[in-house]
Formats: sequence, structure tokens, C-alpha cells
Amino acid sequence: MSKKFAIYPGSFDPITYGHIDIVRRARQVFDQVYVAVLHNLEKKPLFDNEQRLELIKTVFKDDPGIIVESFQGLLVDYAAQKKCHTLIRGLRALSDFDYEFQISLTNRKLYPEGDTVFFMTDEKHAYLSSSIVKQVAKYKGNVSVFVPPCVEAALKVAYSHE
Ligand code: ADP
Repeated sequence: MSKKFAIYPGSFDPITYGHIDIVRRARQVFDQVYVAVLHNLEKKPLFDNEQRLELIKTVFKDDPGIIVESFQGLLVDYAAQKKCHTLIRGLRALSDFDYEFQISLTNRKLYPEGDTVFFMTDEKHAYLSSSIVKQVAKYKGNVSVFVPPCVEAALKVAYSHE
């Protein structure tokens, strides 16, 4: 039987316990989950592409069913090239819905074979986002409840000169 696999795309700047929760839920359904880091040349992330990939690989090092890659350009082109028909996104609150709805219908137009599957986050991560974590870290707040230790350490270094 062929393996069921799916792509979970995002900026992951940086990965948080919210993202991790979605990956773990997705792994209960799919044999393989590709965590796909968007390498967006127009945006200036806090962590560059390599750093974001390394942090995610560290977080999931014990699960061979999680593959970490980066992609550029359209998600649907990356998915088509992998012959992957399932995209994963996480939902926090109703406020995510509008944007996710728009993106998933656009992706379906561009790639009719593909479908987006949504996982609802654990309520304890419902307010969590990479940008909130960066704000807290920038002002030297404690981020250990939001991100794993390797990410916490990387944030300390990133903001050490501020
Ligand atoms: P993007 O820039 O593509 O939105 P993000 O890294 O911010 O990338 O998010 C990737 C995906 O993870 C999105 O579907 C987003 O809704 C979801 N996500 C982000 N934070 C959380 C969280 N705390 N709980 C559940 N899902 C989340």
C-alpha cells in the first residue's frame, strides 16, 4: 500500500508549540508529513531559511515520518512536483478562517487535485503566533512556554544586541 503523505507549509519564523501541535496531530493521520518552509525572498524573516530548517529538524529529530524541506514560489507547484494531493493548515481562532478559506480555494483553482486539510489547535495554543513570540523575546520576556528550548536559545542569540 502506498504511503499517505501531506505537506504542512508555513513561514515558521520561528516554529512554536502551536505548529508542533498541528504536526503531531497530522502525523496521527498521515504516514509522512513534509514540513515545508517558505523561502520568501521578498520578506525579511528574523531567522534565515537555513536557521528555520535547522530548528524544525532539531524539534522533530526523533520522528522519521517528519521531513523538513524548504520551497520557493507557489505552494501548488511544489506540491504538484511531489505528486502530493494534501495540504495541511492549522486553525486557531475564527480570525484565521477568512484568510485560510481564501488561500485554500485559490490553491484548489490552481491545483484541482489538491485539497487542504485543517487541524484545530489545542486551545492552550489558540493565541500563539510566531510574531507574538518574537515580540516577547525581543523585550527579554520568558518564551519557554511558547517554544522548545532550541528555539528559545536561538531567540536569545537573535536579540542579544537589542
Ligand atoms: P504563514 O506565514 O504561512 O501563515 P505560519 O508559520 O505563521 O505561516 O503558520 C503556518 C500554519 O500554522 C498556518 O496554517 C497557521 O494558521 C498555523 N499556525 C500558526 N500558529 C498556530 C498555532 N498556535 N496553533 C495552530 N496553528 C497555528
